[in-house]
Amino acid sequence: MSKVLVIGGGPAGMFAAYFAASNGNEVILLEKNEKLGKKLYITGKGRCNVTNASDMDVVFSNVVTNSKFLYSAFNSYDNKMVYDFFEDHKVPLKVERGNRVFPVSDHSSDVISGLQRALKEVNVDVRLHTEVKELLYEGYIPTEKKEKFDKKITGVKLTNGQEIKADRVVVATGGFSYQTTGSTGDGYRFAKDLGHKFVEVSPGLVPFEIKEEWVKELQGLSLKNVSIEVHSAKKKLYDDFGEMLFTHFGVSGPMILSASARIRPKEFEKELKLYIDLKPALDENALDKRILREFEAGINKQFKNVLGKLFPTKLIPVMIKLSPIPADKKVNDVSKEERKEFVKLIKNLPMTIIGKRSFKEAIITKGGVSVKSVNPSTMESKICKDLFFCGEVLDLDAVTGGYNLQIAWSTGYLAGISC
Ligand SMILES: Cc1cc2nc3c(=O)[nH]c(=O)nc-3n(C[C@H](O)[C@H](O)[C@H](O)COP(=O)(O)OP(=O)(O)OC[C@H]3O[C@@H](n4cnc5c(N)ncnc54)[C@H](O)[C@@H]3O)c2cc1C
Repeated sequence: MSKVLVIGGGPAGMFAAYFAASNGNEVILLEKNEKLGKKLYITGKGRCNVTNASDMDVVFSNVVTNSKFLYSAFNSYDNKMVYDFFEDHKVPLKVERGNRVFPVSDHSSDVISGLQRALKEVNVDVRLHTEVKELLYEGYIPTEKKEKFDKKITGVKLTNGQEIKADRVVVATGGFSYQTTGSTGDGYRFAKDLGHKFVEVSPGLVPFEIKEEWVKELQGLSLKNVSIEVHSAKKKLYDDFGEMLFTHFGVSGPMILSASARIRPKEFEKELKLYIDLKPALDENALDKRILREFEAGINKQFKNVLGKLFPTKLIPVMIKLSPIPADKKVNDVSKEERKEFVKLIKNLPMTIIGKRSFKEAIITKGGVSVKSVNPSTMESKICKDLFFCGEVLDLDAVTGGYNLQIAWSTGYLAGISC
């Protein structure tokens, strides 16, 4: 029986601890917070989107960074196994729109309770209020040809000065976002100190800040069935169809969050352009005809008074302001050219993205411990023997829909059984 320490009581750490203990190891789970799963508690707006029930090829395609690294992890522990795990631990699940899986109760706390029951079942020693300060290791001379390690883990040192010796250590400290939940990037430091490669972190699944002042007037407006494009000076970086939301600083909502994850962090060093097509179902000709119908129905009215059926109420004053057509102009005096320009505006409402919001509001962290320093079949470090990484501390991320938790479960499982 080996002694295993797991650092971090989030989804990845709890899974690693459970599976390491299921293999007959003595497992201690070290969590600096007063309770387990503080971030898990706020997932899915308190409902916890546990995983996604789509085919695994769809799950793979929704991983944005380093999906290939996840082949072993996803194949060893897929979404079906996650589903069964929770049902077996008295957390009935349901599948919603977009194959998103939630607890039937709609309470993330039930997911955490299920995990706690599981940890108890296999006698994991959970130590709360226990913060790891550094990893302890010694030099290592490989005993087999294939081994590349030059270090071997020996335990951890806590912030209170106590040292705990162990045969194996799993780092599951999470990313760098929503730091009040405990994910303060400690694992990055541990990894760097031992010489692991590191990919610079940036906020992911996060809203955009917009330069144009008029955006503030739209605060609270949600647009459904619109399409967006994001462009750099050189090329189109992203397009999507769906839902978005205006906020007091810019734009948010599902499409925008996905764009923030899919566009490479480097692109945000310069201003980007965001274009919204407010009527994606109509081409320019069809839209012109639609506008003409509105103009004919209000033949003696001013331009500003005929837009009620075209846009949500909140959007009308902004569209009037941005339009080339003077607000007070009678619609029968509007020229074909002016109409054409207005059509263009509706099909390409332009905004300037001046940056992403901070880590404080980011659902995930992009970047982290480089997967180049970790063995994808075991989650073991390639530098330090018997040290493992799992979850968001690694340079892995996906779009919304339950995929990020699937990464935590699958990599946590693999790290756990590899111990
Ligand atoms: C608002 C929000 C909503 C989300 N909703 C969803 C969703 O519905 N579905 C989905 O798939 N994903 C969602 N995510 C993403 C998901 O929560 C994360 O990807 C996931 O929690 C990562 O799990 P983890 O175990 O790697 O890290 P974390 O959950 O961050 O856990 C890390 C743990 O390590 C502990 N720790 C850190 N350093 C130390 C140390 N030095 N000593 C001891 N303990 C330490 C922390 O206190 C923490 O408890 C959401 C994220 C946010 C912020």
